[in-house]
Parts: sequence; C-alpha cells; structure tokens
Amino acid sequence: MKTVIMASGGRKRSPDENPYKTKGKVSLRALFSGLVVLTFLMTLAITLFASYHSEEKLLQERTLEANQRESQRVAHAIDMMYLSVEKSLSSFGGELATPMSLGEADETAKQLRLLYESSGRFDSVFVAAANGKIIDSYTKSGAEDPAAIDVSLLKQALNTRKEYRSLFYTETEGDQAVVVSEPIYDANDKYLGVIGGVLCMEHANVLGSLLGSGRSASDFDTVGSYSYVVDDAGRLIYDPNEDRNEEEAGGNLALDRILIGMSGSVKVTDDANGEYLVGYAYAPRTGWGVVSQTSAKALRTEQFEQMRGTLVVVMGPFLMLACAALFLARRLAAPFVSLADFVLRAVDRPEDEALPSVRRHWNREADLLNRAVMRSVREMKRQNRDLNDFALKDSLTGLLNRRALDEILEKLEGDNRPFSLLLMDIDRFKAVNDLYGHAAGDEVLRSVARTLEETLGNQDLCGRYGGEEFLVLLPGRNLPETYEMAERIRLAVAAHENSLHIPVTLSIGASVCPMQSMRVDDLFELADRALYRAKEGGRNRVVV
Ligand code: GH3
Ligand code: MG
Ligand code: MG
Repeated sequence: MKTVIMASGGRKRSPDENPYKTKGKVSLRALFSGLVVLTFLMTLAITLFASYHSEEKLLQERTLEANQRESQRVAHAIDMMYLSVEKSLSSFGGELATPMSLGEADETAKQLRLLYESSGRFDSVFVAAANGKIIDSYTKSGAEDPAAIDVSLLKQALNTRKEYRSLFYTETEGDQAVVVSEPIYDANDKYLGVIGGVLCMEHANVLGSLLGSGRSASDFDTVGSYSYVVDDAGRLIYDPNEDRNEEEAGGNLALDRILIGMSGSVKVTDDANGEYLVGYAYAPRTGWGVVSQTSAKALRTEQFEQMRGTLVVVMGPFLMLACAALFLARRLAAPFVSLADFVLRAVDRPEDEALPSVRRHWNREADLLNRAVMRSVREMKRQNRDLNDFALKDSLTGLLNRRALDEILEKLEGDNRPFSLLLMDIDRFKAVNDLYGHAAGDEVLRSVARTLEETLGNQDLCGRYGGEEFLVLLPGRNLPETYEMAERIRLAVAAHENSLHIPVTLSIGASVCPMQSMRVDDLFELADRALYRAKEGGRNRVVV
C-alpha cells in the first residue's frame, strides 16, 4: 500500500535542463586561463620593454664608440696614405735631381712609370720644369696629354717651390681630385721644377679602399652605418654613398668640431632625418676629417627584428603554458560543476530514492567541499522527511493523518477520477479501553492499521481519520468492487488475532464516486449514514 503523497508543486526536471541562468557569468575556466594568459603577456611586455630600453642605450653607446674608432682608423689611414704619397714623390724627385737626368727623356719616363706603379695611388704623375713646361707625364693608359693637368694648379705648384697640395677640384668624370707635388732641387740648391701627381678620391687605391673595409659586415653596428671624408675646408671629398644628399649627413656639429681639429663622438638629432650616432676624427697631416655615422632609426629597426625573433622563440612555450592552464582550469572547475549537478539532482530526487553520490576529488579543498555539501544535503533531506511525516502521518499508527486525507480528497475531487470512500469505526472500542486500559486500546489501533495496510492494494490509500475511525480511498472501483473490498477488510480485521488476543470488529459505511456523487462532502455524508446504519444493524458489517 502506498502512503506517500506527492509533495505539492513538485515538478520533474529533465536531466540536461539547468535551472540557473549562467549566461553572462564568467566561468572559472575562462577566469583562470585568462589570468594565466594576461600574466604571461604582461610579463612579456614588461620584460621586452625594459630590455628594449636598456639594450637601446647599450647599443647606442657601443655604436658611438664603434663609429669613433672607425673614423679614427680611417683618419689615420688617410694620413699614412698621404705620407707615403709624399715620400714616393720626394724619393723619385731625388732621382731626377740633376739638370742632366731631368733633361733625359728616357730616364724621366722610366722614373715616372716606376713612381706610378710602385705607389699605386696616383691617377697620373708628371714632371714639370721650373719654366712651366711639362717634361713628361704618365698614366695607366700611357702618356697623358700634358694639357690635362690644370695650368693654374701647375703654376701654383711651381711657384711655391715647396711641397704642394692643391685645393680639391672636380674632375671631368665628376670625381674630386687633388694635385700633390714635391719640388726638385739639384745639389747646388738650384730649383729645377716639380714632380707631382693627381690623386682622384674615387680611385680604389686612395680613399675607396680605406672606407668601409675596417668593419665586418656581420657586426650589428654596421647596420645603416657609413663614413665620408671632408677636406680641410669642410667640403665633402669622398662619400661611398653617391646618392646621398649632402644635407642628409646630419654631421654638421661633427664637421664644425673636425674643422677645429677635434675627434670624438656625438649624438645628433636632426629634425628632418632623425637621430644619428656620429663618430668623427681629424687627420692632422692632411687636415681632412672623417665622419662615421649610424642612423638610430636603422639601429632601432634591427632591434625590433631581434625582438620579433625573441617573440617567435617564446611563442612555443607560451602556447604550451596556455594549454596547460586550460587543462588545469578545467580540472579545477570540474568539482564545482559536478557539485552543482549533485545538489540539483538531490533536490529533484523523490523522498524515497537514495541520493546520488559525488566522486572523491584529487583536490583537497574540492573534496572537503564535496563531502560537506553531500552531508548537509543528506541531513536536509532527512529533516525534510521527518517534517513531512510529522505533518502528514499519524504518529500512533503511521497511517496518513486527517490533514493528509483531506488534501488527497481535495485533489481527487479536482481530478474528476472515480473512487470509493470507506468510513470505518471500531465496534465498542470504548469497552476495550475500559476493560484492558488505554495502552491496550492503542495497541488495538496499531494492529487494525497493520491489517488495513496488508489487505489494501498498491493504489489504495488509507488513514486514521479520528480516534478509532479509519478512512480508506479506493481509486477506480465500481459499487460491487467497493463492497467486495470492504467485506474483505471487515473479515480480515475480524480474523486477525492481535497480540493481546482482544477480539476486534469494524463497521464500514461506503460511498462510490461518481455513481452516488461527485462531491466529497456528499460522499462523506453518504458513507457516514451508511456507517450509522451498519452500527444500527448490529455492527461488524458493511453498508453501502
Ligand atoms: P461504537 O461501536 O458505537 O462505535 O462504540 P464505541 O465504544 O466505539 O463508541 P465511542 O465513539 O463512544 O467510543 C470511542 C472511544 O474511542 C472513545 C475514546 O476513549 C476512544 N478513543 C479515541 N481515540 C483513542 C485513542 O487514541 N486511543 C485509545 N486507547 N482510545 C481512543
Ligand atoms: Mg467512534
Ligand atoms: Mg467505535
């Protein structure tokens, strides 16, 4: 026999239906992974930013130093080159220092060719007599047209009667060139003329070989670096980068310093071209200057390239870290999800079904929480059950109480379903109390209740309606079936031997819905009247 009443308003949820809105809520997994990614990115950004700035400073210092070294190297090489040119000229001049040998055409030609080839720096070489006449000249392709040497420069060279260096002039091919000469005196200090040569700056053996050969191309500081040479008036005489606009040099400050004989390094900021790291050096013998400079922008670009390389390298470990964080976050969030699921399932579970259990968790805190929640849900369910029993069950017999019966009747009436109502009363119960005592009366009540439960079917309901009155509800029975069941109950109670061996009988009044009425009040009235008649008729009987 079923004694459980559906808790009012109990609605079954489908298993995958989540009753709580989680949209717009941040998941633990997202939170944790986000935190890891954010921490990584922030750390990376801070590290890159800090290292970029310290590296930039270091790099600039190193570049300034390298540029200064480079300019000094070139300046020194220029002086050495010039010294060797002067020495060649004076030593070959000495060979021709007799009026006789100077007049000897073969000897002059021979010495000039020797001078040209041993020095390897001249564009052309020449010998001129004191009267201004060019005695001979030599250039690679053979004898040069004497007119090719500027007459006014030649005149100046002859007039100084000392070692001579002309101002720079632009050659026919557009290159900067200079005429250098040494006087020729004979043994009696008689001035015979000059021996000289033209140095073309673009010539591979003059400045071209000196610039750009000192630094290895793999050096970081060669990026965007170049050098150029100025003469003692500050004019550009050699620049390997021919397309470069002179204005772009950005080395005006350095030029000013070179002109007063200084060497050093300086960081120049030019509005139009940005920052330059400039090294400059003064060549004391020639008075020329060398500027080696690097664009800070090019340096920075190189630095960015390096940083990009670093980023690519750290990307692999980062992706691994992110995956690990995702995995861990998932594992960490799992107990919360399963706990929520457990609580929901526990709440939905019918009173008489056992609670689902939650698996033990590897995380200590999650496991503690799991067990605490499981325990409190169990306790809550137990208390709920007790309260339910207290509210709806009769404490003496364990049957439904009057309140529960009234609720069920109300529901049955609303549902319009057929049922029968049996109102039963123990015969001469007062006498039981009087003869055997109240406790024995209680025992009789309990034993009748057991007999009722045993006799009734699963769908039937039964409760204690008053002192020694019971109510039985039989769903879906017609009149004969109702009568038959009432008789069965009556006979069972009469036949049942209780522990005190007190004979007990029941009188039963029955009514049937919808045959007699649809209203519970009417059915009660009818059953009550029938019960009265059963009592009147001699008790221990059924009246419908
Ligand atoms: P009748 O056959 O006419 O029903 O006779 P009766 O003695 O059963 O009639 P009555 O209604 O006068 O007596 C009911 C008695 O049931 C009165 C009361 O003392 C007793 N009773 C009511 N509730 C309990 C209870 O919980 N325990 C005990 N032991 N007795 C109860
Ligand atoms: Mg009574
Ligand atoms: Mg009675």
